Amino acid sequence: MPSLPSTPQEKIVFQLNLRRSGISDQAVLRAMEEVPRELFVMSVDRIYAYRDTALGIACGQTISQPFIVAYMTEQLQLRPEHRVLEIGTGSGYQAAILSKLCREVVSLERFRTLADRARRVLAGIGCSNVEVIHGDGFDIPETRGTFDRIMVTAAMENIPDALLERLEPGGVLIAPVGPVDDRQVLVRVVRTDSGFKREELLPVRFVPALPGVAREL
Ligand code: SAH
Repeated sequence: MPSLPSTPQEKIVFQLNLRRSGISDQAVLRAMEEVPRELFVMSVDRIYAYRDTALGIACGQTISQPFIVAYMTEQLQLRPEHRVLEIGTGSGYQAAILSKLCREVVSLERFRTLADRARRVLAGIGCSNVEVIHGDGFDIPETRGTFDRIMVTAAMENIPDALLERLEPGGVLIAPVGPVDDRQVLVRVVRTDSGFKREELLPVRFVPALPGVAREL
């Protein structure tokens, strides 16, 4: 089904809301303007694509609220040469935003259905620097190496040491941390010469990060 054209008015309000909520990085705002969110939501929800709300996607998962996508992206302080890991591809929307601001995105998703769909949508809009992998974000093959930035888009009780070890020196990780059935806090970790510097940013609510790939019927 073709996507409904979003009105220019909706897109202007979308941008204004992001700015009003405190997003000020011009490159992030531009990425949010360029990526057609209506292609990442379910077809019945296309009319709501430019509202500042999370929406349901397949497999009982969600596409995050645009403000949270922009905020987490801004907090990563991306540079064009960066290699970025995302855990929780979901719809692929966040990966598309990241792809506009860095060299390469590797994104893992435990549901094959979601990984396949996201791959198709991303290819359709020309995001050729995103690799979507059907796999477990708690068990990333060593061969994938380390990353300049890591974004986790599913709630974790704790950030595993093994994940922190995948950060390059000077690297930044952002993740929702806390009880998976309640609110979490967005945590930003910077890898310094002497260890890790951790800072709490905002209360958030994400679907849980679960170990292993999902069993699907
Ligand atoms: N970033 C997404 C939204 C993520 S919702 C977007 O832009 O649409 C969180 C996603 O994390 C879900 O799709 C869920 O299946 C996935 N997930 C949860 N645990 C995971 C794990 N261990 N490895 C990979 N993906 C995981």
